[in-house]
Amino acid sequence: MARAAERAALQPVIGLEVHVQLDTETKVFCGCSTDGDADEEPNTRVCPVCLGLPGALPVVNEAAVAAAVKVGKALDAEIPAETQFHRKNYYYPDLPKNFQITQYDAPLCADGELEFSHEGDRRSVRIRRAHLEEDPGSLQHVREGPADLDARTTSVDRADYTLVDYNRAGTPLMEIVTEPDFREPAAVRGFLEKLEEVLAYLGIFDPEGDGSLRVDANLSMVSADDVRADGTVPEDVLKDANRTEVKNISSHRGAETALSYEASRQRDQIEVGREVAQETRHYNETHGNTVSMRAKEEEKDYRYFPESDLPSLQVADWREEIEIPELPDARRERFREEYGLGEEAAAKLTSRKTVADFYEAVAAEFDPELAATLVADSLLGELNYRDRGIDAVTDRLDEFERLIELVATDQVTTKNAEETVLRAMLDEGEDPDTVVDREGLGKAADDEVATAVTTAVAENPDAVDDYHAGEDGALNFLVGQVMAATGGSADPGTVNELLHEELG
Ligand code: ADP
Ligand code: MG
Ligand code: ZN
Repeated sequence: MARAAERAALQPVIGLEVHVQLDTETKVFCGCSTDGDADEEPNTRVCPVCLGLPGALPVVNEAAVAAAVKVGKALDAEIPAETQFHRKNYYYPDLPKNFQITQYDAPLCADGELEFSHEGDRRSVRIRRAHLEEDPGSLQHVREGPADLDARTTSVDRADYTLVDYNRAGTPLMEIVTEPDFREPAAVRGFLEKLEEVLAYLGIFDPEGDGSLRVDANLSMVSADDVRADGTVPEDVLKDANRTEVKNISSHRGAETALSYEASRQRDQIEVGREVAQETRHYNETHGNTVSMRAKEEEKDYRYFPESDLPSLQVADWREEIEIPELPDARRERFREEYGLGEEAAAKLTSRKTVADFYEAVAAEFDPELAATLVADSLLGELNYRDRGIDAVTDRLDEFERLIELVATDQVTTKNAEETVLRAMLDEGEDPDTVVDREGLGKAADDEVATAVTTAVAENPDAVDDYHAGEDGALNFLVGQVMAATGGSADPGTVNELLHEELG
């Protein structure tokens, strides 16, 4: 077969295992704090339980289970009445007990679904399962050299020694496993963005947290003929396809890059007649490639067995009692209906709960469409430009409401509000009235504008003649004169109207 034809005939199949840190106060099986910062001392947030000392017994954190139930509900998953923990056994220095407490055949959530959009299309991905487990500690591989430890951090194969920090050990994780429903690396990005939005809405996830979302991405290549019209692939084809699992992906962009690389690498292998090895690969963020780590481990390698130190967990009552907030899709639809917003503005205003809450607080007081423009376009744009999030202003809601009030009641022009007042509010921390006074931005009083119009007409007879002769530029010239005379504080619409009247 010709090379080009063969290229076209192969189709990537992708499934994800996403690890999400649940934003609880304490760890999942002990009382240690989860609240660490980047420069904390290693091994300071630890106790006998998360260090795996002999005789220490785990107790499950109620808040972590509640968070997991919320995730299940948001993913429209089945939550069984009873669920159980298992031990997954393997030896690695970041795992002090030599096993990880996780879930196996009785996960907290199964058979869910998440909708997201990709290039303007609605997509849906099936969630096979989502379970609760503990995060291992973290390792830092170091080579000998200058004093600065961070500068000496390296990969495991180049290290002279390795440091281990158990501060992270025992942080609650939710592992969310999708069906292999993705056909393009780019769609994975849209899914991860949506997943983060939903998790943040639930208030159980901090998208800004370091390492709060980590992805293992599975990819195989199948013949395009094996893909059904609805995009699914028969079970036996999936089983027979050799797949790789790429680890160490910690960003949306990284997922797309790693998977694009992996798709073309596997394609190349198949085209030269080599079998793709079933293996675990490591994503190298700096080089944007993946490298072989080890042969893929199988389930039997882990010798799963029930965690006998934890009783089975009865969650039947919780399923009913625990409530989740309105989620982004529903809120977006409601914004469109209730406030008459367009698709894009509604999407922008609902993608983060804090932004949506902020907008609703403002829209309740003033014209919702004006509020949408000022929040979705001006405020988010200016914040984005400054690399800041909405939390930079959430405690100044009053001041932003006042700014919108100034515009809504015609005291300041939209242009001045956006270009001068808003920027000074963000950069100098000033309140809107101070900026308006200092810069003399109060809209010119009606009689001041009227006088400026009369003067402009009286002083520019040539332009008036041109206007009557039907020259388009003449009116603009006169508007310019009035704007200059009022120091830019007149409303252009009003000036236009008054000029038309004056000119007959
Ligand atoms: P394992 O237990 O070996 O990790 P699973 O069946 O639990 O395998 O699947 C793990 C992930 O691999 C899931 O996200 C699933 O969607 C994905 N997956 C399964 N088969 C394939 C395939 N042929 N190609 C790509 N991904 C796959
Ligand atoms: Mg797996
Ligand atoms: Zn502990």
